Amino acid sequence: AKQRGRNNFQFFTQALTDGAFERLVMENVLRGAVGRGELVLHYQPQIALASGRLMGFEALVRWNHPELGLVPPGRFIPLAEEIGIIGDIGAWVLRAACRQLADWDAQGFAVPRMGVNLSVKQIDDAGLTELVASALREAGLGEHRLELEVTESMLMGVPETNRAALNAIKSLGVELAVDDFGTGYSNLAYLKLLPLDRLKIDQSFVRDIGRDGNDEAIVRAIIALARSLGLETVAEGVEEAHQAEFLLREGCNLAQGYLYSRPLPAEALSFPMCFRRD
Ligand code: C2E
Ligand code: CA
Ligand code: CA
Ligand code: CA
Repeated sequence: AKQRGRNNFQFFTQALTDGAFERLVMENVLRGAVGRGELVLHYQPQIALASGRLMGFEALVRWNHPELGLVPPGRFIPLAEEIGIIGDIGAWVLRAACRQLADWDAQGFAVPRMGVNLSVKQIDDAGLTELVASALREAGLGEHRLELEVTESMLMGVPETNRAALNAIKSLGVELAVDDFGTGYSNLAYLKLLPLDRLKIDQSFVRDIGRDGNDEAIVRAIIALARSLGLETVAEGVEEAHQAEFLLREGCNLAQGYLYSRPLPAEALSFPMCFRRD
């Protein structure tokens, strides 16, 4: 079966124009990716703007396919959700990310927190709380070490059952961040219904800081909103020093982006990690 998979894959790479067939092949190859150990995590640091200190990492999954190379999540996560294998991938990501944080602990590297992205299909899964609990237990992680990132659309009109699940996860000592904040719908009612810790300001608002007064106004408003709700803010996609300066001045807590580091495999990271402002 393994051999057949390889042949199929060569077909796929040979300029196939039939989208449906390409997809079918991709599906079949992706189904085995977890079992073959082809998924890898890259880690991107989150920095406290005021001190330059490392506050945590976000784990970002990649598919390391022998022929395709490193496939970015945007090219396989939506497919994995569609064909019903996101649960397996999500469980692997959660366990691997927790294990990595525990490994850093064992090596004496002080990494306060690990952020992991959740798919909407995982929130809908009744087994999520148990999965999170077992990942924490297996890695021996205490409270406030794991943060789950959920998007606004996943929280929109969140059913009672999902709300109960998020409360249960929260009571395990897990933190919750809203990813891509500002890009979902304008209904903010979920902010008062859910036990959140952090808002991640979407990179589309951060990109044009210094060039677009409207984006700056939106960033200011998100920071003010978060502060009045007792939430922290994380700016995503910070690439330039002047953006970090603006964000610090406006009271944003944390920053993440190429200015500090691209997402990197654990073996490429160097500790201790601290980013001083000159
Ligand atoms: P996201 O959670 O919003 O992740 C941030 C994305 O922005 C990452 O892309 C990251 O590499 C990229 N990024 C970071 N800093 C910068 C910057 O300074 N400039 C720019 N232009 N981009 C920056 P990536 O790794 O390709 O991930 C894309 C998306 O895939 C993520 O968006 C997330 O929604 C999803 N994803 C990644 N890992 C997982 C996972 O384990 N599970 C699930 N369900 N989704 C995941
Ligand atoms: Ca994220
Ligand atoms: Ca994001
Ligand atoms: Ca803009």
